[in-house]
Amino acid sequence: MRRVIVVGAGAAGSMAAIFAATGGADTLLLERTRDGGRKILISGGGRCNVLPSRVDESRFVTDSSPNLLKKIVRAWPLAEQRAFFEDTLGIPLEEETESLKLFPASHKARDVRDGLLDYARRVGVRMRMESRVIDIAPVDGGWEVALDDGTVLKADAVIIATGGLSVPNTGSDGAGLNMLKALGHTMHPTYAALTPLTTTDAAFNDLSGISLTVALTAKSAKQQATWRGGFLFTHHGYSGPSVLNVSHVAVRTRAGHAPAAKVQVQWTALGEKEWEEALKPHGARTVTGALRAELPDRLASALLAKANVEPTRPLTELRRDERLRLIDTLVRGDLPWQGDEGYKKAEVMGGGVALSEIDPRTMESRRHKGLFLCGEVLDAFGPIGGYNFMWAWATGRSAGVAAAVRDIP
Ligand SMILES: Cc1cc2nc3c(=O)[nH]c(=O)nc-3n(C[C@H](O)[C@H](O)[C@H](O)COP(=O)(O)OP(=O)(O)OC[C@H]3O[C@@H](n4cnc5c(N)ncnc54)[C@H](O)[C@@H]3O)c2cc1C
Repeated sequence: MRRVIVVGAGAAGSMAAIFAATGGADTLLLERTRDGGRKILISGGGRCNVLPSRVDESRFVTDSSPNLLKKIVRAWPLAEQRAFFEDTLGIPLEEETESLKLFPASHKARDVRDGLLDYARRVGVRMRMESRVIDIAPVDGGWEVALDDGTVLKADAVIIATGGLSVPNTGSDGAGLNMLKALGHTMHPTYAALTPLTTTDAAFNDLSGISLTVALTAKSAKQQATWRGGFLFTHHGYSGPSVLNVSHVAVRTRAGHAPAAKVQVQWTALGEKEWEEALKPHGARTVTGALRAELPDRLASALLAKANVEPTRPLTELRRDERLRLIDTLVRGDLPWQGDEGYKKAEVMGGGVALSEIDPRTMESRRHKGLFLCGEVLDAFGPIGGYNFMWAWATGRSAGVAAAVRDIP
């Protein structure tokens, strides 16, 4: 019987182990924490956004070939993934229609984590928790896996599903990435993604707690990302889906000497023409009155100050230069930012092992036979909305299926 060792009982690893075992392999799942799947437990605010209800593949981000990425994701279509959770694991999913997200109907992330690991046990996966892998090495056509307690295990195939660098207290500390690097894999630079941005701008720091829907664009010399969605002022800066989904563009300009990315915000659904209309004289209405009709009061005041427009000015007396400045602030205002919350708050890591290093059908390393990679160790991530689990499930399944096969095509 083919022996497969899966390293990491997170999202990708538990899925890989399930498919390796159902493919007929003697499967051992090694996990450094006591219980595994800790990121699943904290995901989606404890509700676990298992999948998107609709997927736009162009939203994934990679420095590798986007076509390769699409090929990998398409290996397990969304409808089949959904059916696996609902029919095979028996976890009914419920759509949050406004956000196009799928959650377990129980709204409990624990049901997803436990459902996966219980099913893995049922199909014969053996599990060894509190077992940290410190090295893997190809030996005599197979693999040796070394644990931190000195144990060395042998396998025909090894699946690395150790995750990225985000929220390291969930167990993913980058050890797997180091092992893959040591085995000669090309690594695209890693960075915190889906992470809040910070600012020292006193006017905006004062708005902590205000949330609204905006359109954000982050632009650097090399990259651009735009997202319309929730925006939240925090004590130190900004969060919410729109910020998280464009944050990687900003974060990446902090690493080198490139000029900082510019982040621009359209604060309401109104564009330039609509604001021209809204700022036309209207009885005794002041400019503050016009803004408060569309924006939270404190934000309206802060934006008037940014545009250097007197808040009590009646619309009948608003000068042309003031109107243009104000519309500019409202429609494409600069969002001041100086930093980011990094890996301690990042939902994912960007970068990782180049996708060209793996066979997109099997997830087998092109450098080492019998070594399979899946999940966040690979150079890909998606936006908020279930995309990152979708990546973990799809790559985990492909790796598990292929690792179980004796003669890999
Ligand atoms: C706060 C938060 C909320 C999120 N919410 C969502 C969401 O709702 N929807 C979504 O799609 N995505 C979400 N994500 C992203 C998602 O959790 C990750 O993309 C996904 O978990 C990655 O799966 P993975 O299996 O590659 O890595 P992980 O889930 O991180 O699993 C890696 C596992 O490997 C183990 N491990 C690491 N090194 C070793 C070693 N040397 N030896 C043994 N074991 C090891 C770790 O302990 C861990 O259990 C969220 C992330 C965070 C941080």
